Amino acid sequence: MDILKILRDEFTGFFGVNHWLKMYHANDYSSLFTLDGVRGAIGPLIPLILVIEIVRALLYKKFKIEEYKIPFLIFVFNRFISRFISIAAVGFCIGLLSRFALIKTSFTWYWLIYGYIIWEFAHFVYHYLGHKVRLFWCLHSTHHAPEQMNLSVTFAHFFLEAPYADVIRTSICILMGVNPPLLFFIMFIDGTWGAFIHVGENVIKDGRMGFLNKIVLTPSHHRVHHAKNPLYMDTNFCNLLNIWDKVFKTFQYEKKEEPPIYGITRKINPHNFLDVYFGEAAALGRDVWHAPGLRNKFLYIFMPPGWSHTGEHKTAKKVRDEFLKNSRKKELTITNSFVNEAL
Ligand SMILES: [Zn+2]
Ligand SMILES: [Zn+2]
Repeated sequence: MDILKILRDEFTGFFGVNHWLKMYHANDYSSLFTLDGVRGAIGPLIPLILVIEIVRALLYKKFKIEEYKIPFLIFVFNRFISRFISIAAVGFCIGLLSRFALIKTSFTWYWLIYGYIIWEFAHFVYHYLGHKVRLFWCLHSTHHAPEQMNLSVTFAHFFLEAPYADVIRTSICILMGVNPPLLFFIMFIDGTWGAFIHVGENVIKDGRMGFLNKIVLTPSHHRVHHAKNPLYMDTNFCNLLNIWDKVFKTFQYEKKEEPPIYGITRKINPHNFLDVYFGEAAALGRDVWHAPGLRNKFLYIFMPPGWSHTGEHKTAKKVRDEFLKNSRKKELTITNSFVNEAL
């Protein structure tokens, strides 16, 4: 086996430069005018920003190897398993469900808008369940474990999360008539934007990106999603269009006086691969084991993280609601004291 060739292929694959190399060798850039060509050309964008992020961190002497180590290990681990299961899952759902599609669509700009709204809904469903059903949280929590934000976080996923997400997203889209070419195009935009919103403060300090903050889901909104501040818990589930967060009242702006604290609320060693990868599953296993009765064991698996058979719940909803109640009380006290002073 030619180790050097494997390494070279992995390198060019990761940086997404294969398409550019092919055009360079053939001295033919005409494919840039095709859809596939544009997709291939944009491929190196995210890895390039990741490199800029690391170089800037190095220049400002802020580079900490441990902030990149775990996402990188996860990337290598997933590289060989997750992708293939995910591709197979997408193919399976398309083959199985296409005949049940409610409507027929084609590759036009208006169907693209329709498809994207449906895709965002499907993404919302998968992501919401990833936070609200403890079993699915075991798959999703790996992505939330890093205690800093940078582009490498985009690679930090449990290997079964992509197939789980793709089964839900593909099934909903296919049933709603989003045809496969449209779906793959949307998946590509979603993947690129979904990676970009993890850009670190080193590269883009103010993630609100001006007026875009009002229209689309910016890095600022996704930083809020990754934060464990009570105000930010379980908010901003969308990816590019945050319409569904607004519809389902899970939308939250980043507040200047509330800088995001990244990570999850469980005590965790964010530099330990096993804890980041399997920690939640182990904790769930322990809770199920110790829970009295079959009903409670079952509920631990399907209720939101933080649910307890004793009734002392520490779910994100409870923590956030209590925080909002207290801040409203505080505001009221301040207003009352102002009124009293004025009198
Ligand atoms: Zn999430
Ligand atoms: Zn994320």
